Amino acid sequence: MRTSFCALLLCMSTLAGPCLGNTFVIQVNYSGDPTYQSAFDDAATMWTGLIAGYQNGVVTSRTFGSSYNIGQTVGTLFIDASVAPIDGVGGVLGSAGPDQRITDQAGFVLATDGTMNFDSADILNLFNSGRLSAVIAHEMAHVMGFGTLWTNNGVYVNGSGEFTGAAATAKWHSEFGQTGTPNVELGGGPGTANGHWDEVDGGGGSTGILDPLGRDMRLELMTGWIGSTSFVSEMTVASFVDIGFVAVPEPLSSLAILALVPYFVTRRQRVAR
Ligand SMILES: [Zn+2]
Repeated sequence: MRTSFCALLLCMSTLAGPCLGNTFVIQVNYSGDPTYQSAFDDAATMWTGLIAGYQNGVVTSRTFGSSYNIGQTVGTLFIDASVAPIDGVGGVLGSAGPDQRITDQAGFVLATDGTMNFDSADILNLFNSGRLSAVIAHEMAHVMGFGTLWTNNGVYVNGSGEFTGAAATAKWHSEFGQTGTPNVELGGGPGTANGHWDEVDGGGGSTGILDPLGRDMRLELMTGWIGSTSFVSEMTVASFVDIGFVAVPEPLSSLAILALVPYFVTRRQRVAR
């Protein structure tokens, strides 16, 4: 599935440019301090460089406030972003999720509109330390459905700790050398449990689960606690295929990952859903 979409649209000839077949757009409505605008742009650029579009996307039912009507084909994810007090310095850095959704002809439940909130007590520090785009990318993934539309799409049962989507499971084996199905976080309480890849609670240690470059799972972008650096695994991209998206084929996708500037922290902080 990952290799067919864009190849059919004849855009493999330009490895450095965006895939012409990409139909996925993330439109962020952010009206806060313009200092932070570029971090929102970076995060959206990264995801639209990894996700090409939807497998089907034709609306068969919708929540009342969705930007899409029955019969239309979804293409743009609309996100309202705000900066406001959450819990003071440290702790929870942000939260996000879908507000409106549709079901497409293939039976996938897809977000059409969502919200991201970032703690005003943390955002300047995140920006100055180069981590803001990664935190925004993390929250943006929740709006796209990571950890928020898993049960709706039949790839997760709350409390099970096991993600059962086939595409991500294949990467759990090939990328991380594991067996069974990908482990989902059960610690951290509401907002963290059942919505992230598993790591040691509180980000308190290495998991021993390594990708081919030797990067520990604790540093993956979609675990529950932000790390000293971060990377986006093929497994995370594949998890979006399991909930209705089409992934950009490699190596185009690896260029998108490079767009996310590495970031550094001195202590672990929680990234709530
Ligand atoms: Zn999260």
